Amino acid sequence: MNCPFCGYHDSKVIDSRDVNDGVRRRRQCLSCSARFTTYERLQPVSLFVIKKDQRREEFSKDKLLAGLRKACEKRPLPTGAVDKLADDIEAELYHQGKAEIPTTIIGDMVMERLKRLDYIAYIRFASVYRDFADITALKREIDSLVTDKTEVSRPTSQLSLLPNEELVTVAKGRPRSRR
Ligand SMILES: [Zn+2]
Repeated sequence: MNCPFCGYHDSKVIDSRDVNDGVRRRRQCLSCSARFTTYERLQPVSLFVIKKDQRREEFSKDKLLAGLRKACEKRPLPTGAVDKLADDIEAELYHQGKAEIPTTIIGDMVMERLKRLDYIAYIRFASVYRDFADITALKREIDSLVTDKTEVSRPTSQLSLLPNEELVTVAKGRPRSRR
């Protein structure tokens, strides 16, 4: 892990803490003394997704993130909310311990979370992912959201439950090592 500030190759660990699915370490660069945080996760060798046409493809969090970002574009979400969502899904997928997971399952996980986070993003994602056959199907989905008001009107501020430090790390866009 190179220092994100000066690129130096070595750092010392000044604090180490177990988090849900791995270890979070505070490190200090041995060259410029800057401090940064790394996350280390246990992961199986690989996780494959089974696509609709039955082809297998290695799970890519970048792809997941790209889809999420697109859905959440210009939405007033707390900084780091999208990354947090992708992290959560990734963690849950690996937690299941399976070698293969159908894309439909991942899509459902995303929809479930987006629904709670931001309903516009949810509709955007759903319209791509579910490939709504016609406008009636889309309208039905929107109607069900309106009826389901308790779900929809929940404030997005629930994500501020993140520890402050973590939010800051995400906000600064510091590289967060996975290994
Ligand atoms: Zn440094």
